[in-house]
Amino acid sequence: AYEGMGVSRQRRLKVVINPHGGTKKAVGIFKKSVEPIFLAAECTLDIVHTTRPGHAYDIGKDLSLTDYDAIAILSGDGLVHEILNGLAHNLHPIKALATPLAPIPTGTGNGLSLNILGFDDGFDVCVAALNAVKGLPMKVDLCSVTQNGKRTISFMSQAMGLMADLDIGTEHLRWMGEARFSYGFLRGLIKMKPSPLRILIKEYESDKEKMFEALQQRKKNPPAATKPADADLESTQLPTLKYTLDDEEGWTVVQEPLLYLFAGKGPYVGRDYMSFPVSLPDDGLLDIVLQTTNVSRVELLRNQSAAPKGLVYWHPSVRYVKAHAYRVKPLASKGALAVDGEIFPFEEFQVEAHSKLGCFLSP
Ligand code: ADP
Ligand code: MG
Repeated sequence: AYEGMGVSRQRRLKVVINPHGGTKKAVGIFKKSVEPIFLAAECTLDIVHTTRPGHAYDIGKDLSLTDYDAIAILSGDGLVHEILNGLAHNLHPIKALATPLAPIPTGTGNGLSLNILGFDDGFDVCVAALNAVKGLPMKVDLCSVTQNGKRTISFMSQAMGLMADLDIGTEHLRWMGEARFSYGFLRGLIKMKPSPLRILIKEYESDKEKMFEALQQRKKNPPAATKPADADLESTQLPTLKYTLDDEEGWTVVQEPLLYLFAGKGPYVGRDYMSFPVSLPDDGLLDIVLQTTNVSRVELLRNQSAAPKGLVYWHPSVRYVKAHAYRVKPLASKGALAVDGEIFPFEEFQVEAHSKLGCFLSP
C-alpha cells in the first residue's frame, strides 16, 4: 500500500538535525530515541547536522528529489520553515514541496508536530519517529507571504503585535524552553499596547457558528487519503499569485487598533496554544484571528488559559475570519512581524493560501 502512496516501506530518509534548536538536546535525543527506531524499520539514513541559520534552506534547495522518500526534521517549526523555503527554490519546486516532511519535536515551538500527531502525542519523539517510518503522505495547504516583491513560503503562522513580540523579543531566553513564550505573553499583557494596522481581507467566511459546523462535518466525514497528484510535478515554478496589491475592490477593510493579528494554518501553533481551532489542513483557506482592544487584561489572561482548547475563538472581542488572502499595512514605524516564528521586516505584506502545495507524513 505504501508503494501506491509514493512512499516505500524501507524508507530512504533525509534526516536534518538542528543542534541549536529548543534546549539544544536534539543530537542526544536522535541517538537515544529516534535513530534506533529508524534502523529497526530498516530505513536508509542520510544525516545532516545544521551548522548555521540558513543551512536547512540550502538542504531543501539542493535536495536530489529522487534520492529520498521523506525528510525527517529534528528541531522546531523554524527549521521546517527553512526547509520548505529551500524546497520552494529547488529546480522543481512543485515536486520538491511534494516531498513528505516528518517533524520530530525537538525545538521550542513544535506546532507542526502537535497538528500532525495530536495533543497527547505531539511532543513524543518516539511517536514522531514512528510517523516518519510508517506515516502516510497528506497533502496540505501552504501560504505565500509576499513582502517588497520577495515571496516566502509560510506553513503555519503570521503574527503581529503581542503574539509576535512574545516569540521574537525572547530569543535570549532560549534556556527557559517553552516558558519563554509565557513570559513574553505576560510582558505583553502588562504593556497592553495596540498595534495600528490597516488590514484587507479576501474573505470566505466570518460566521463563527458556520465555521465550527463545517469543522464538525469534516470530523464526521474525513477525506480519504489521496495519492499526490502527478500533474505539474515537473514544473519549474511555484503557482502564480492570484491576488495583487493594486485593487481594493472585494476586500474587507479592518482598520482599528488590535492587540494582535494571528493568521495561518493550524489548529495548533504551540503546545499551549490552539490559535486556529476551526482550521482545516487542506481547505485552501487561511484562518485569521484579530484580537481587538475591547478586552480587559483579566479577560485576556483568562482567554489565554483557555487557549490550549482554542476557546479564545468564542470570545466576543475576537474577530475570526476564513480567507483566501489578506494584506497588512502597518500604520506605525515600529513593531514586529513573525512568520512561522521567524522575524520579518515590519513592512506591508500580503499572504495567500495555496491549496495542497505541501506534504506531511501523518499517522
Ligand atoms: P526553536 O523552536 O527552538 O526556535 P527552530 O526549529 O525554530 O527551533 O530553529 C531555531 C533556529 O536555529 C532556526 O532559525 C535555524 O536557522 C537556526 N539554526 C540552525 N542550525 C543552527 C546552528 N548550528 N547554530 C545556530 N542556529 C542554527
Ligand atoms: Mg524558532
